[in-house]
Amino acid sequence: MDIEQFRKAGYAAIDSICDYYSNISNVPVKAQVQPGYLIDQLPKEAPENGQEFDEISKDFGKLILPGITHWQSPSFFAYFPSNSTFECMLADLYSASVANPGFNWICSPACTELEQVVVEWAARMLGLSENFWGSSGIGGGVIMGSASDSAFTAAIAAREKALRQLSIQNGVKPAENGQVEIPDSIRQEYGQKLVVYGSTQTHSIGAKSALMLGLPFRAIPVSAEDQYSLRGESVKEAIEKDKQDGLVPFLVYATIGTTSTGAIDRIGEIGEVLKEYPTVFLHVDAAWAGVANALPKYRESLRLQEVNEYADSFCTNFHKWGLTTFDCSIFCVKNRQDLTQALDVTPSYLRSKEADAGTVIDYRNWQPALGRRFRSIKLWFVLRSYGIQGFQKHLERGIEHCDELAKVVESSKNFEIVTKPSLSLLVFRLKPSSTTAVQVDDDELNIINQRLYTNLDLRYDVFLSQTVLHSKESNKFVLRLAMGGVNTTFKDVEKTWKIIEEEGEKVLDDWEK
Ligand code: PLP
Repeated sequence: MDIEQFRKAGYAAIDSICDYYSNISNVPVKAQVQPGYLIDQLPKEAPENGQEFDEISKDFGKLILPGITHWQSPSFFAYFPSNSTFECMLADLYSASVANPGFNWICSPACTELEQVVVEWAARMLGLSENFWGSSGIGGGVIMGSASDSAFTAAIAAREKALRQLSIQNGVKPAENGQVEIPDSIRQEYGQKLVVYGSTQTHSIGAKSALMLGLPFRAIPVSAEDQYSLRGESVKEAIEKDKQDGLVPFLVYATIGTTSTGAIDRIGEIGEVLKEYPTVFLHVDAAWAGVANALPKYRESLRLQEVNEYADSFCTNFHKWGLTTFDCSIFCVKNRQDLTQALDVTPSYLRSKEADAGTVIDYRNWQPALGRRFRSIKLWFVLRSYGIQGFQKHLERGIEHCDELAKVVESSKNFEIVTKPSLSLLVFRLKPSSTTAVQVDDDELNIINQRLYTNLDLRYDVFLSQTVLHSKESNKFVLRLAMGGVNTTFKDVEKTWKIIEEEGEKVLDDWEK
């Protein structure tokens, strides 16, 4: 493709994207295909000779779009939203136009410096304390591809930090520049004794990070009475038990806004407990809810002050509810050396005079991978286009939809809200009121809700998620509806709710028979 062909194909691509968005409310939210649908239609091998781009791009509409689940549909309420905006689509195009892997400042100074600036804009907008800002010179932030990457990176940083502390306790003297070499003997003695903690509600990224490091993950039980949030005393109990067994606790994953119910872990309590265990690092995963700190009135319930006081690192995904097209996960640390001392491996071919002089950041030293995408341009476009006020309005809309829906569910005779609505997330289940003929016990409630979910899952015009709430008291099968889509109106929420109510009635009618 030459420049003129690109110009023509590019205009045509934008036209077809505009058509897609103009029509997105009219197509079912879920892909209506069966497993293997695409594999069966594509040749087994790449074509021998190049093909016309017109032909290739037509196949996007013909073959790919039918297999797309429309996350940008106003009727998408599953998982959490993955907002996308036109600004970001253009940003991705610009980013691709100057394609480069941006691992060192010198690779493209604009990539590194824009990232430094916009991550700090984000941190300030969310009320994170100065300790997390890059301009502090000590802390700072980086854009990762996902909250999983952020959590895994936090785990590596935490492990190395703990091993450095154990090295010092075992007589290793820090070098003049403060660096601590971890002797092999320390790695051998303690490396396999390290333990990671989270709760039964921690996203699977917690267990997966531990698994990737070959270490155990303790999923600490929570209680429904505490609205499924992790308490300090439970953390203490779990840590103490492991210490008695000769193990070495080194990392706690706390969550602000758990995936199942949007629970907020007791960061203050956990932080106070961790004061007794200086080798333990606290990472706060606020993948979904963290952006809501842009609304000052929610900061108290999001325990922002406690995060600022106690967390070593914090992550939130702008690619969920933050208007930024996947991928854009903000990962901030209070001490950037926690990252660089764990991840800076610099052979001569990666050196530069600017980095040697210490005047620039080379982001490869803040993450496991070397190369990195130019993601900051997306967030820059979003924050400038919407402004903080526009960003806030978007969040408020999602929360209002949830509040409105909560009223509808509360007044319905066959459904109950299971946990307090959390921002734009509503967790509910089918539960016939005591005045109806249908009477069910707790186990039966789980069965009818599974049936309801199965029936909803068979439809293409509705998409929400199921989850099981594991607590000390019981396991509840529930449904969750996550609002906050860029294109969603309350009418769309009502439309989905009507379907849920109808399917609910059918399940109860069948149950009675
Ligand atoms: N943490 C929480 C609380 C989440 O809800 C999710 C995803 O929904 C994740 C982490 C994983 O996010 P990512 O896909 O960015 O790794």
